[in-house]
Amino acid sequence: MSSDNLSAVLYAKNDLRLENRPIPEPGPNEVLLRMAQVGICGSDVSYLTKGFIGDFVVKAPMVLGHEAAGVVAKCGANVKHLKPGDRVAIEPGIPCRMCDFCKGGKYNLCPDVFFCATPPDHGNLCRYYKHAADFCYKLPDHVSLEEGAILEPLSVGVHACRRAGVTLGSKVLICGAGPIGLVNLLTAKAMGATSVCITDIAENRLQVAKEMGADHTLLVSTGDAEALAKEIKELLGDMPDITIECSGAEPSIRLGIFATKSGGMMVLVGLGPPEVKIPIVNAAVREVDIRGIFRYANCYPLALDMIASGKVNVKPLITHRFKLEESAKAFETARTGAGGAIKVMISCE
Ligand code: NAD
Ligand code: ZN
Repeated sequence: MSSDNLSAVLYAKNDLRLENRPIPEPGPNEVLLRMAQVGICGSDVSYLTKGFIGDFVVKAPMVLGHEAAGVVAKCGANVKHLKPGDRVAIEPGIPCRMCDFCKGGKYNLCPDVFFCATPPDHGNLCRYYKHAADFCYKLPDHVSLEEGAILEPLSVGVHACRRAGVTLGSKVLICGAGPIGLVNLLTAKAMGATSVCITDIAENRLQVAKEMGADHTLLVSTGDAEALAKEIKELLGDMPDITIECSGAEPSIRLGIFATKSGGMMVLVGLGPPEVKIPIVNAAVREVDIRGIFRYANCYPLALDMIASGKVNVKPLITHRFKLEESAKAFETARTGAGGAIKVMISCE
């Protein structure tokens, strides 16, 4: 066992430092993990470049990273389902387990959740990290630790597609072909969507979407929302029953409303400006339901099954790989999207 705990610590906006921190001791219901793979999420980049997301402000040094998988190094006294050497995916949010939301199964809405790399909670872009054992999911031998890390964004796709009601035969519009749009594409197809159209303002992202199974792609950099909605109807052969908005951009939310079939559903996954102008009367009179999603609850097991069974292949999402020591370079690649970066993965081994 290596004795250092090199960690990527964000001190403040644009002040990321690699430093050694103490190796934590797991509590009775926790495991100590030797971290293996950590994906960089847009939120990690936002904390680094802006120092905050909404009301969450980096006020004290915080370890980044929450899309992660590791290897069990030590088990707390009460831990029965894991043993040292087990490879696990780490669900980063540990709720209070006591409130109405937790008891009702909507633990993603728990107001007292601990969530890796959301201030003030430390993340796991480090060598050693301890976590609640029941939020660690053992990976089958044929599922890689990189795939284990991708379970985090994939779970966002599972939660969004569940809330959208994607089922066999659904026609789905996905707005935005970033990592989150792409995991929604994979999930929607796996859940039985027969045609999926995906939009973006960047041609290279649409190319990846096509390679990952999108039936149709639409470049939306120009054109007004209503005209684009007509184009989407032509591509899909009908208006989509379901729209999953994954960019957060105002023009894209507007398009999502115009494009969705009357009586259909638009799920807002993308989180952009806190207030936007949208054609709300159009949605109201056509009974287009609009739903939000926040992270996920009870989605890791299905996301893991989807990968383990071969229903989805998340490997093409991973475009760049770095070592923990190269974190600055990894974040720069994720920030700029250089070299067609989609998911940048950091190895902590
Ligand atoms: P990303 O920035 O990599 O991807 C966004 C994509 O949208 C990019 O490819 C961009 O070119 C595209 N885009 C921008 N404007 C557009 C427009 N007008 N029309 C179509 N596409 C457009 O981000 P990501 O990691 O894929 O995350 C997507 C969004 O999901 C972010 O807003 C993020 O905050 C949000 N998110 C929400 C949750 C949640 O729980 N609700 C969880 C994870 C991520
Ligand atoms: Zn709770």
